[in-house]
Amino acid sequence: MASPDFLDNPETLGTLQRVFGYDAFRDGQREIIEHVVAGGDALVLMPTGGGKSLCYQIPALVRKGTGVVISPLIALMQDQVDALRALGVRAGFLNSTQDLDERRVVEAQFLAGELDLLYLAPERLRVPAAVELLDRGDVALFAIDEAHCVSQWGHDFRPDYLMLSGLHERWPDVPRIALTATATQATRSEIASRLQLEDARHFVASFDRPNIQYRIEPKTDAKRQLLHLLKTEHQGDAGIVYCLSRNSVEKHAAFLTENGIEALPYHAGLDARTRAENQARFLREEGLVMVATIAFGMGIDKPDVRFVAHLDLPKSVEGYYQETGRAGRDGLPSTAWLAYGLQDVVNLRKMIDSGEGDAAFRRRQALHLDAMLALCETVECRRVQLLNYFGQSGEPCGNCDTCLSPPETWDATVPAQKVLSVIVRLERERRQKFGAGHIVDILLGKKNAKVIQFDHDGLKSFGIGTELREAEWRGVVRQLLAQGLVAVESTHGTLVLTESSAEVLRGQHKVLMRREPERTATKAAKAAK
Ligand code: ADP
Ligand code: ZN
Repeated sequence: MASPDFLDNPETLGTLQRVFGYDAFRDGQREIIEHVVAGGDALVLMPTGGGKSLCYQIPALVRKGTGVVISPLIALMQDQVDALRALGVRAGFLNSTQDLDERRVVEAQFLAGELDLLYLAPERLRVPAAVELLDRGDVALFAIDEAHCVSQWGHDFRPDYLMLSGLHERWPDVPRIALTATATQATRSEIASRLQLEDARHFVASFDRPNIQYRIEPKTDAKRQLLHLLKTEHQGDAGIVYCLSRNSVEKHAAFLTENGIEALPYHAGLDARTRAENQARFLREEGLVMVATIAFGMGIDKPDVRFVAHLDLPKSVEGYYQETGRAGRDGLPSTAWLAYGLQDVVNLRKMIDSGEGDAAFRRRQALHLDAMLALCETVECRRVQLLNYFGQSGEPCGNCDTCLSPPETWDATVPAQKVLSVIVRLERERRQKFGAGHIVDILLGKKNAKVIQFDHDGLKSFGIGTELREAEWRGVVRQLLAQGLVAVESTHGTLVLTESSAEVLRGQHKVLMRREPERTATKAAKAAK
């Protein structure tokens, strides 16, 4: 962000110091705040932990009237309001968890001009009475938090956000500030157009989180790998472990607890009270591990989360970035660790193919997944790759696994051809489920029941792959999937050829792969010390 040529506005700086108790603005905050105080519209892209809240809270305090904050995070409103009140800020909220009396009190305060900040759930704007209420009061600004929720193609769409496009027409003179921590160029344009913020000033902060060490390793035994990470590097630390399914959340929370690590589960299948309780404990107590689906974490402000571990592959780089971004908000060294395997890729591809939405939607999801896989398989600096994804540049960071122990590559053309040739032979029996495991068995020449049932021990390719071990073959298949040289057929999950496979079979395409170290994480950790 360019540095401004004006001096600090004494009123905004004074508010920062007097009300919030901080000495100075962080990068970017001052320009945004000055712009909104002066009545300008703003679209703010800042990573998690960057300090977005002050960007609307201070203008709300400085400008006349109440700052109205639209937020999807209903569960957090009470906490946010309590925290503000503790600082002497007059704040309130309106959402569906309140009864009529509670709402009446807040409405009266708003109308009497007794609120600096009013948090509003987006669905409130569907209620005509709520809109009229805003009309009758004095609105200082509209802050649209988690603005990417308006993006239909993004990963966290909320239909109620579409109503926010009407704010500008109804209150043309009230400045609007939309904020998000996740936005590629495409999402950003979509936010701008849906919220009519094309003419707003865009503030884009650096997405680099230098204190986060990014590490991605092949999944061999997820439980053991996780336990190893926690025991050797994060003993007693607070952290989040993300899993794809509720079942897996329960299983891993129990596993950690059995192994002496205090862990709590969090997923949408738990009743609201348990969820709220677990979340409150995670925020309040030290050194708890939250094992959760991605339902957990949005808007959670816990500064000392020391690690975020993914046991399943995130569906998009945006999701990965947002989830890992919950680590290290206090700026201290933290770990973002992900283990992923062949089955993740197969499962996610199947989920996309058989999931909801039209063809265009599925294509979009497939592209999201491809970008995520490219990040996993890159031999370059992970941070540079991440920043590039968000349209920013960077230098190799020295604080990610590929920088700390650069992966070796090897020429995998021949093994790739072997895998593909087995797939060619199986194409005739496409209606069967021949997944990676079966193909590897054929390559290794294993005469198991399925091989015998289909006479696959008679194939020309049977037993032609004894030069690699089973785990290595699975790695080859996974990387072929990531490189788009093999695809997953949706109905049965059978591996099939892609358009690019033929070039490999004809020897016109050299296949380079990461050599898989025994334990990337351990090595990287040692190198970091
Ligand atoms: P975001 O919403 O961008 O994820 P927050 O607004 O929650 O981030 O801010 C993250 C943390 O940084 C909070 O604990 C906040 O109080 C703190 N913070 C924000 N601005 C400043 C500042 N200028 N000086 C010191 N701490 C700050
Ligand atoms: Zn790096």
